[in-house]
Amino acid sequence: MFIPTLKESPADSEVISHKLMVRAGMIRQLAAGIYSTLPLGLRVLRKVEQIVREEMNRIGGQEVFMPSVQPAELWMESGRWSLYGKELLRIRDRHDREFCYGPTHEEVITDIVRKEIKSYRQLPALFYQIQTKFRDEVRPRFGIMRGREFMMKDAYSFHVSEDSARETYQDMIDAYSNIFRRCGLDFKMVEADTGTIGGHHSHEFVVLADSGEDAIGFCDSCDYASNMEKAAARAPAPPANPEEPAPLKEVSTPNKKTVEEVSRFLGVSPQKILKTIVFETDAGLVAGLVRGDRQVNPIKLKNLIGCEWLHPAEEKAIAEKTQAPRGFVGPVKLPIKIYADPEVPLPRNMVAGANKMDAHYTGVQAGRDFSIEKTGDIRMVEEGEPCPKCDRGRYKIRRGIEVGHIFILGTKYSAPLKAQYLDAQGKENAMVMGCYGVGVGRTAAAAIEQNHDEKGIVWPLPIAPFQAVVIPVNYAVDAVKDASDKTYDTLWSLGVETLLDDRSDRLGVKFNDADLIGIPLQIVIGPKNLESGKIEIKTRKTNQSGLHDFPDVLQKIPEMLKGL
Ligand code: ATP
Ligand code: MG
Repeated sequence: MFIPTLKESPADSEVISHKLMVRAGMIRQLAAGIYSTLPLGLRVLRKVEQIVREEMNRIGGQEVFMPSVQPAELWMESGRWSLYGKELLRIRDRHDREFCYGPTHEEVITDIVRKEIKSYRQLPALFYQIQTKFRDEVRPRFGIMRGREFMMKDAYSFHVSEDSARETYQDMIDAYSNIFRRCGLDFKMVEADTGTIGGHHSHEFVVLADSGEDAIGFCDSCDYASNMEKAAARAPAPPANPEEPAPLKEVSTPNKKTVEEVSRFLGVSPQKILKTIVFETDAGLVAGLVRGDRQVNPIKLKNLIGCEWLHPAEEKAIAEKTQAPRGFVGPVKLPIKIYADPEVPLPRNMVAGANKMDAHYTGVQAGRDFSIEKTGDIRMVEEGEPCPKCDRGRYKIRRGIEVGHIFILGTKYSAPLKAQYLDAQGKENAMVMGCYGVGVGRTAAAAIEQNHDEKGIVWPLPIAPFQAVVIPVNYAVDAVKDASDKTYDTLWSLGVETLLDDRSDRLGVKFNDADLIGIPLQIVIGPKNLESGKIEIKTRKTNQSGLHDFPDVLQKIPEMLKGL
C-alpha cells in the first residue's frame, strides 16, 4: 500500500488537518487549491461518501451523476452567468462555445426536471450526486478544506408546494444530523444566509473548531444559533426617559473623523453618535446607519435592501454623489437612500456628520431631520448581548467549519428556467425547490480538526481508513510473520479492515507512522510476547495497551471496536 508519510508539514499549511493529511500521505497538492487524493485519503473520502449515500437513500434520495462541464446558456437563463463573478471558471470549447466548470448544479438538475417531470403526480422528487465541483476561490487554503476543486454531495428537491418542500427540508435536517454524528463530529445547526445560491430559508451545519473560517453566534440558554452573517439582534426597547428634543445645530469638529475622535472631542458617548456608512450596490449608492458603538453587517444590510450585491463605496464615489468628505458623511440632507438599524430612530439628540469638511450636527433626530427608506436589523451582534429568541440567554460567539448547507429555494430557479408541473386542475405552476450540500473532503478535514493529538490523527472509527493495523516487531522472524499474517487474514475474515505493516523499518518508525495515520487499533506482534502466547493491543485514542491471548483475542476484536 502506498502511504508516503512525511516528517515535515507543507510550508503553506496553516491548519492541523492540512498538515496531517499531507504528512499521513493522504493527499498531495497539484496546483493552488487542487489536490490528488492518495489511497489512504481516498478510503476516508469513500467512507464519508458511503455514510452520506446511506442517509440520502434513507430519506428517498435517488442518486444521479451530472456533468461537471455545463453550457453557459443554462447559466444565462437562470441569470447567474453574470452574477456568479470570478468564482465561476469559464471555459471555451473548440467551436468557441462558452461553458463553465460547475461550482454547483441547480441549473443542470432543473433542466433535466423541466424536460422530464410534468405532473403533480411525479412530485416530490429528490435527487443527489457525489461529484467534483470547481470554484475559483479567491483564497484557496487549508488543504482540501477550502480547495478550488473539491468533492461535494449536492441534492436537489422539487415540490408542488412550499409545505412539501418544508417536509423534505426537515428530512434533510435529520439526515444531515445523522451524517455528521456518524462521522464522529461535534456540530451545530445554525441559521444561515443564502448567498449566491439564493432562496429564502437556510441552515448550515457547522463543526466547532478554532481554526474555522466562520463565526457563529448561539444562545447560552436556548437552541438559537446562527451564522454571524445572519445573527439577529434583539429588538431594542425605547428609552425609558426620552430627552427633550434639541434643535439641529452645526458644530465645528476640525479633523475629527472617527466615532472615537468625535466622541472624545464633543464629550458624548459613541452610543449618541450616528455612524453613516456608504455602500455601492447594484441599486445605486445607499447609506447604512447604525449607532456609533455598532458595526454594520453588510449581509443583513443587503438583505434589507433586497439588492444583489453590495460593497463599501470608494471615497471618490461618495464625494461625487454626496459632496461629503469621508468621515463627515451624515444622514441630514444626504441625497441617497438611508437604511437604518432600529436603534437609530429611538434616541433623540444624536450627533452625525454634517456632509461638509470639519463639521458635525448635534441634536439630530430621525424623522424630523432626515427620513429613512427602511428600518431593519442591519448590525453585527456581539458576545454577551441578549438572545433574540429567549428571555434568559446571552450570545456566545465561536468559530466553526461549515460542512453542510441546506436551502429552500422557492422558485428562484424553476421560474426563470420554466420548470413547471400541471396540478390536479390542469393548471401550470412553477415547482418549489430545495438544495442541500455536504463537502465530503471538508467533512473529513473537519473530523481531523476535532480528533488529533501531538502524534497525529485519531480517526473516529466510522471514517477511519482502516480499523486496525498489525505491527510486527520483526517481520523477518518466521513466528512473528506467521502470527502477523494469521492476524491479518483472520481480521479481514471477521470484517475488520486491517493494514499490515510488513516493512523492514525500525519499530519506532512503524509506531510513529501508525500514530500519524491514526488507525483506531494497533496490534503489536513480537517474538517475546508470542513465546508466552500473547500479543499487544493498543487503542490509538487512549494510548492504553494490554496483552491478550493469541489467537483467541482475534475473535473479540470486532466487539472491542464497537466499544471505541
Ligand atoms: P463557503 O461559505 O465555505 O465558501 P459555500 O457556502 O459557498 O461555502 P455551499 O455552496 O453551501 O458552500 O456548498 C455546500 C458545501 O460544500 C459546503 O457546506 C462545504 O462543506 C462544501 N464546500 C464549499 N466550498 C468548498 C471549498 N472551496 N472546498 C471544500 N469544500 C467546500
Ligand atoms: Mg454555504
